[in-house]
Amino acid sequence: MAAARSETWRRVVLDAEQALAVSPVGNLAAAATDEHTAAGLLNEHLALGTPVLVPVGFRWWLDYRSSSPSARAAFALAQLVVLDTGFTRIKQCERCRRPFIDRTAARTAKRCADHNRKPAVPRRWL
Ligand SMILES: [Zn+2]
Repeated sequence: MAAARSETWRRVVLDAEQALAVSPVGNLAAAATDEHTAAGLLNEHLALGTPVLVPVGFRWWLDYRSSSPSARAAFALAQLVVLDTGFTRIKQCERCRRPFIDRTAARTAKRCADHNRKPAVPRRWL
Protein backbone atom coordinates (compact mmCIF):
# COMPACT_ATOMS: atom_id res chain seq x y z
CA MET A 1 0.00 0.00 0.00
CA ALA A 2 2.79 2.42 0.90
CA ALA A 3 4.55 1.57 -2.36
CA ALA A 4 1.41 2.40 -4.35
CA ARG A 5 1.09 5.75 -2.60
CA SER A 6 4.76 6.44 -3.20
CA GLU A 7 4.37 5.72 -6.92
CA THR A 8 1.34 7.99 -7.08
CA TRP A 9 3.19 10.72 -5.26
CA ARG A 10 6.23 10.45 -7.53
CA ARG A 11 4.00 10.67 -10.60
CA VAL A 12 2.20 13.74 -9.22
CA VAL A 13 5.49 15.53 -8.49
CA LEU A 14 6.97 14.65 -11.88
CA ASP A 15 3.80 15.80 -13.66
CA ALA A 16 3.87 19.06 -11.72
CA GLU A 17 7.53 19.64 -12.57
CA GLN A 18 6.84 18.96 -16.23
CA ALA A 19 3.88 21.34 -16.09
CA LEU A 20 6.14 24.11 -14.84
CA ALA A 21 8.52 23.44 -17.72
CA VAL A 22 5.93 23.55 -20.51
CA SER A 23 3.38 26.14 -19.49
CA PRO A 24 3.45 29.70 -18.15
CA VAL A 25 0.49 28.85 -15.93
CA GLY A 26 2.89 27.41 -13.36
CA ASN A 27 4.97 30.54 -13.42
CA LEU A 28 1.91 32.63 -12.71
CA ALA A 29 0.74 30.29 -9.94
CA ALA A 30 4.15 30.38 -8.28
CA ALA A 31 4.23 34.16 -8.49
CA ALA A 32 0.70 34.61 -7.11
CA THR A 33 0.57 36.67 -3.95
CA ASP A 34 -1.88 34.34 -2.22
CA GLU A 35 -3.35 30.86 -2.58
CA HIS A 36 -6.81 32.09 -3.62
CA THR A 37 -5.32 34.04 -6.52
CA ALA A 38 -3.26 31.00 -7.56
CA ALA A 39 -6.33 28.74 -7.27
CA GLY A 40 -8.40 31.13 -9.38
CA LEU A 41 -5.73 31.08 -12.04
CA LEU A 42 -5.56 27.28 -12.08
CA ASN A 43 -9.38 27.08 -12.12
CA GLU A 44 -9.53 29.26 -15.24
CA HIS A 45 -7.29 26.80 -17.07
CA LEU A 46 -8.92 23.68 -15.56
CA ALA A 47 -12.22 24.76 -17.12
CA LEU A 48 -10.69 24.05 -20.54
CA GLY A 49 -10.70 20.28 -20.01
CA THR A 50 -12.59 17.33 -18.56
CA PRO A 51 -11.59 15.16 -15.58
CA VAL A 52 -12.10 11.44 -16.21
CA LEU A 53 -11.82 8.45 -13.88
CA VAL A 54 -9.70 5.71 -15.46
CA PRO A 55 -9.25 2.18 -14.08
CA VAL A 56 -5.60 1.27 -13.46
CA GLY A 57 -5.38 -2.35 -12.33
CA PHE A 58 -7.54 -2.58 -9.22
CA ARG A 59 -7.33 1.15 -8.56
CA TRP A 60 -8.65 4.32 -10.10
CA TRP A 61 -6.69 7.20 -11.47
CA LEU A 62 -8.13 10.67 -12.06
CA ASP A 63 -7.09 11.62 -15.56
CA TYR A 64 -7.71 14.89 -17.30
CA ARG A 65 -8.37 15.42 -20.98
CA SER A 66 -7.78 18.67 -22.79
CA SER A 67 -6.08 19.85 -25.95
CA SER A 68 -4.79 22.88 -24.05
CA PRO A 69 -1.23 22.50 -22.68
CA SER A 70 -1.95 25.14 -20.04
CA ALA A 71 -5.06 23.22 -18.91
CA ARG A 72 -3.08 19.98 -18.56
CA ALA A 73 -0.38 21.89 -16.67
CA ALA A 74 -3.00 23.39 -14.37
CA PHE A 75 -4.38 19.89 -13.67
CA ALA A 76 -0.93 18.56 -12.78
CA LEU A 77 -0.39 21.45 -10.37
CA ALA A 78 -3.91 21.11 -8.96
CA GLN A 79 -3.25 17.44 -8.15
CA LEU A 80 -0.16 18.44 -6.22
CA VAL A 81 -2.16 21.08 -4.35
CA VAL A 82 -4.91 18.60 -3.45
CA LEU A 83 -2.67 15.67 -2.51
CA ASP A 84 -0.22 17.77 -0.53
CA THR A 85 -0.83 20.71 1.75
CA GLY A 86 -2.00 23.40 -0.60
CA PHE A 87 0.39 25.52 -2.63
CA THR A 88 3.38 25.17 -0.30
CA ARG A 89 5.50 23.24 -2.81
CA ILE A 90 4.92 25.50 -5.82
CA LYS A 91 7.57 28.17 -5.48
CA GLN A 92 9.49 30.76 -7.41
CA CYS A 93 13.28 30.82 -7.20
CA GLU A 94 14.50 33.83 -5.26
CA ARG A 95 17.42 34.25 -7.65
CA CYS A 96 16.05 33.61 -11.16
CA ARG A 97 12.25 33.80 -10.52
CA ARG A 98 11.78 30.46 -12.30
CA PRO A 99 9.01 28.31 -10.75
CA PHE A 100 9.99 25.01 -9.16
CA ILE A 101 8.51 22.24 -7.03
CA ASP A 102 10.00 22.17 -3.55
CA ARG A 103 10.74 18.50 -2.85
CA THR A 104 12.18 19.03 0.63
CA ALA A 105 10.29 17.39 3.50
CA ALA A 106 9.98 20.69 5.37
CA ARG A 107 9.24 22.71 2.20
CA THR A 108 12.06 25.08 2.98
CA ALA A 109 13.77 25.39 -0.42
CA LYS A 110 14.02 28.95 -1.70
CA ARG A 111 15.91 28.33 -4.93
CA CYS A 112 15.52 26.16 -8.01
CA ALA A 113 17.85 23.22 -8.62
CA ASP A 114 20.23 25.38 -10.66
CA HIS A 115 20.65 27.89 -7.83
CA ASN A 116 20.33 25.63 -4.82
CA ARG A 117 23.93 24.59 -4.76
CA LYS A 118 26.27 26.12 -2.25
CA PRO A 119 29.00 28.24 -3.77
CA ALA A 120 32.12 26.29 -4.51
CA VAL A 121 34.82 26.65 -1.91
CA PRO A 122 38.12 27.42 -3.57
CA ARG A 123 40.57 24.59 -3.11
CA ARG A 124 43.83 25.31 -1.49
CA TRP A 125 46.74 23.72 -3.17
CA LEU A 126 49.06 22.00 -0.76
ZN1 LIG B 1 16.86 29.75 -9.90
